[in-house]
Amino acid sequence: MKLFGGVETGGTKIVCVVADGDGNIAAETSFPTTNPDETISRVIAFFKDQMRAHSIEALGIGTFGPVDLDPQSRTYGYITTTPKPGWSNIDLLGRISRALPIPMVIDTDVNAAAMGEYTWGSAIGIDPFVYFTIGTGIGMGGMVNHALLHGLTHPEAGHMIIHHDVRLDPFPGACTYHGDCFEGLATGFALEKRWKTRGETLPDDHPAWLLEANYIAQALVNTILMLSPKKIVLGGGVMQRQAMFVLIRQEVARLLNDYVKSDQILNGMDTFIVPPGLGKRSGVLGAVALARNYAHP
Ligand code: ZN
Repeated sequence: MKLFGGVETGGTKIVCVVADGDGNIAAETSFPTTNPDETISRVIAFFKDQMRAHSIEALGIGTFGPVDLDPQSRTYGYITTTPKPGWSNIDLLGRISRALPIPMVIDTDVNAAAMGEYTWGSAIGIDPFVYFTIGTGIGMGGMVNHALLHGLTHPEAGHMIIHHDVRLDPFPGACTYHGDCFEGLATGFALEKRWKTRGETLPDDHPAWLLEANYIAQALVNTILMLSPKKIVLGGGVMQRQAMFVLIRQEVARLLNDYVKSDQILNGMDTFIVPPGLGKRSGVLGAVALARNYAHP
C-alpha cells in the first residue's frame, strides 16, 4: 500500500499523520508548537519511527506563514517574518528534509486545508473555491484552475483592509503591521481583547457575534467580487460556533444586495458558505494530498 506523510504546523499545535492515498489515517500524533528546535525534532522523530514500520513515499507540509514558497529562492521553505517568537527565518523544509530522505512539498497551512477540502471535503473538485480559517490568525487558501493559488508569495487575505466604523467599534485592532485590517479586527485574539473575555464565554445573542459576522462577511464579499469562487469553506476556532454561519450568510447577502446574479448566492447561500467537510483535519489531510499529488502528478 502506498503511504504518505502529512504535517500541519499550526500556531499553537502540530499535527503529523501517515495516511494512504485516499486519506485514511494509519498513524497520527499531535503536540504543542514550542520553539523551533524542539518542535521540528518531534516531527522528525515521529516520521523516523513510522518509517521503520512503513514505506512512506512523500511528505507534505502545511505551515503557518509567512513562508517562502519560491523554489528558486535561497530561502525556499523558510518561515520568513512571523511575529511568532523564535520562528522568523527558520529553515523548516530544509531541517526536515535533511533528516528524512523522502520527497517533500511545502505550502501554507491554509493552502493545505484548501487542498484537503478540494480533495476529500466540502469542495470536492469545485474550482475556483476558497478556504478561510478564522481563529488565532486569519488566512485564506484558494484553488484556481485546479491549482493552489500562488503568486508573488501566497495569498494574505487575512490582512485585507475592510471598513471599520470606529463609532460602532472603537477597538483599534490588533494587527502588529496594520492595526485594524481584517485580521486585526476579527481573530479570536481581537475578539478577546475587544470584549475582555474569551469568545467561548459569550452567548450566541451577544453583539460581539454580529460585529464579527460583519467583518467576516466584508472579507467574503471582497473575495466573491474578486475571485468569483463557487464555494467558500470557513474553518478555524471562531467558526466552531455554528450560529456564526447563519449570521455570516445573512451579512454577505445584505452587503451584496442582489448585485451578483448567481443562483448559488441568491438562493443557495446555505450550500455556498459552509463548514469544512474534514472538520479539524482539513490541513493535515490536505498536506497528505499535497504529498500524494507531488509523488504522483
Ligand atoms: Zn494586518
